[in-house]
Amino acid sequence: MFDIIIIGAGPSGLATALYALRANKKVLILEASAYGGQIINASNIENYPGIKSISGFDFATNLYNQVKDLGATIKFEKVLKVTENKEVTTAKDTYQAKVIVIATGKKPRKLEIEGEDKLIGKGISYCATCDGNFYKGKEVAIVGGGNTAIEDAIYLSAICKKVYLIHRREEFRAFSKSIEELKSKENVEFILNSNIAKINGNDSLESIEIKKDNEIINLKVQGLFIAIGGETQNDIFTNVVDLDEFGYIETHNDVMTKTLGIFVAGDARKKSLYQLTTAVADGALVADLAIKYINLSTQ
Ligand SMILES: Cc1cc2nc3c(=O)[nH]c(=O)nc-3n(C[C@H](O)[C@H](O)[C@H](O)COP(=O)(O)OP(=O)(O)OC[C@H]3O[C@@H](n4cnc5c(N)ncnc54)[C@H](O)[C@@H]3O)c2cc1C
Repeated sequence: MFDIIIIGAGPSGLATALYALRANKKVLILEASAYGGQIINASNIENYPGIKSISGFDFATNLYNQVKDLGATIKFEKVLKVTENKEVTTAKDTYQAKVIVIATGKKPRKLEIEGEDKLIGKGISYCATCDGNFYKGKEVAIVGGGNTAIEDAIYLSAICKKVYLIHRREEFRAFSKSIEELKSKENVEFILNSNIAKINGNDSLESIEIKKDNEIINLKVQGLFIAIGGETQNDIFTNVVDLDEFGYIETHNDVMTKTLGIFVAGDARKKSLYQLTTAVADGALVADLAIKYINLSTQ
């Protein structure tokens, strides 16, 4: 029996664990892939109070080690089901806790065009910091217009020979400082007001076809990085939480779901700002409420 099972080892899940462990609670963290969540993809974080600049990887690793050193049990297993009785099932096992914290964040959105699925890992990637090194000295394209796309383009411009940034609009939805930094890179070319119409290649990516106005541009690239935002992963929890129209978990008191003892932290919940600071703040809030809930229910 664990006091708290946290689903997801991103910033919000790890911050929840940090507060709960410091209050002597027995914590299990279940993570479907690698620790760190989305922030691992940030080449540089410059808006975290108190830290002038740090890479996403270093930030996540520091937080992960901090939590590990405090004695968290961490298992790399994907959660498939939770029940109202706080039972959590993964592909390998079933675990029981007094409290469950959903901290499943978001996963990258797909372009949903032909050829995409077939070439994942064979030229198509959703994570520049994970796969960028495979394209050292090569020509690559990135599609997207938010912070992720801009961050990825900056990161790849230091590794690749040429980087094309394809965006469906003229304006970006990213920090202006990052956009300025990207514009100063000599090996980056912007292809704006454009969409990817087709992905070509059989065993590996050969080229992409870009629709700009009424023209089709055929671009030969070895890599295509898709950075068009994220989508929630909350469908497995609908027996215990309510979702809004975009799949975010509805809450009251910021982090409480409709089921007593099941909380949600970070990007998985409906809120107005999806950032690192708000994710870790959620973690602190959740842990505090969870500790009070456990203490009350065991009195
Ligand atoms: C490229 C990029 C750059 C960014 N830069 C900044 C920045 O500079 N400053 C800033 O404030 N914010 C930044 N962000 C946003 C920030 O990363 C997110 O707001 C934050 O990571 C949200 O944390 P989270 O823990 O809620 O979710 P996530 O980081 O999404 O973590 C969720 C975790 O849950 C796991 N998971 C999901 N489903 C399951 C399941 N069924 N079972 C087990 N585990 C599961 C996932 O594998 C993942 O590890 C950036 C995001 C990106 C993508």
